[in-house]
Amino acid sequence: MVVLTDPNPELRVRSVEVSSSDVSSDRLRKMIAELKKTMKEENGCGIAAPQVGIHERVIIVDDGSGPKAYINPEIVSKSFATFLFEEGCLSVPGVWGMVKRHKSVKVSAIGEDGNPVKISGKGLLSVIFQHEIDHLDGILFIDTVQKITRMPNNSIL
Ligand code: ZN
Repeated sequence: MVVLTDPNPELRVRSVEVSSSDVSSDRLRKMIAELKKTMKEENGCGIAAPQVGIHERVIIVDDGSGPKAYINPEIVSKSFATFLFEEGCLSVPGVWGMVKRHKSVKVSAIGEDGNPVKISGKGLLSVIFQHEIDHLDGILFIDTVQKITRMPNNSIL
């Protein structure tokens, strides 16, 4: 799969929910496998389906414990406390910047096995969830970045 890059308008489309009848389909299983492969090839710690032009609410998250897919993920609660985290994005190559994120979030989703899951994420995991779920709504980290720290020519600002 080819990762689309900013300013491709496909990245700005709001993705639709996966229907319950489709959750355990071969089609979805294949899509998840392809997304994981693409994320690994690109050395990402997360990827969202719209980044490869599929406008469905599917994300892959890997905080170091291995890639996991979540279908129709939704942030159901978030900490009042926020922190600044340096983020990059496969769809915005070479650019890094400080983004204000909630320190912890609770996410409700459907897991790869088709069963509902609730995950509590803090630190890096919390950031990955917020970043990837933003993609499902057509939002990129450069929309809310507070300070760009690195530009594509590799200069550190
Ligand atoms: Zn991204």
